[in-house]
Amino acid sequence: MRYTICLLLFTSMVFPACLKNVQNKRFKAATNPVVAHRGAWKTKGLPENSIASLRAAITLGCVGSEFDVRMTADDSLIINHDPAWHNLSIEKSRYAEITQFPLSNGEKLPTLREYLLAGAHQNPHTYLVCEIKPSETSKERGQRIAARVLALVHELHLEKRVVYISFDYDILKKILELAPQVHTQYLEGDRNPAQLKADGVRGADFHHSVYRDHPDWVSIAQQNHILLNAWTVNEKSDMEWLMNAGFDYITTNEPEMALDLWEKIKN
Ligand code: MG
Repeated sequence: MRYTICLLLFTSMVFPACLKNVQNKRFKAATNPVVAHRGAWKTKGLPENSIASLRAAITLGCVGSEFDVRMTADDSLIINHDPAWHNLSIEKSRYAEITQFPLSNGEKLPTLREYLLAGAHQNPHTYLVCEIKPSETSKERGQRIAARVLALVHELHLEKRVVYISFDYDILKKILELAPQVHTQYLEGDRNPAQLKADGVRGADFHHSVYRDHPDWVSIAQQNHILLNAWTVNEKSDMEWLMNAGFDYITTNEPEMALDLWEKIKN
């Protein structure tokens, strides 16, 4: 009996530490710049932001797979791009109301916990690129969502696997206030990369047209060690331009095309 209790105590102390090591230390990001936008859904006809599309991006070997987080009226963090699901406002509806409507492949609308756990499983190389959507209700609610997302990622020991992106600069600033070491990228192309550097934001993740309008921002970012990402890049000619310009990440609905192109361009 005493031996059993000791074993249980030992296991309860050591196992979480082992889990942390497995999830963080063995992770090596893929050596390509391709981030699947809402997972790799298009070629296989999967729903966007589904666990199936996330797993498809991991199977492809993308460096990242992006997804969108919102919060229901009863504070459940769920994965969905639009503010409404089946004409229900996510912010004004309860989790049970929202999840009565499955995705087109039969999946339940995933919670963030379910999505992160599915994304961490047997995934040696794909970052989980977490877009926190601004709240339609208030700035304060958006920042509360950010804090809850961070707490969950911490609980699951996935800090080194998650990249945070947002159009709301205050959400990123809140994240950096709570966890200055995490990786954030800003989506709204209205700030010079030098300002991102000053604020501790590690990446510019702007619409690709922003870099055409501000060609000097590419070199400014590179000089300031700000990672360069562009969305949503679906044309081959745009991919070629960005890959040849040395972009760190390219977010696309066409990850297979981008990976094929990368194989040609890198050699
Ligand atoms: Mg998104």
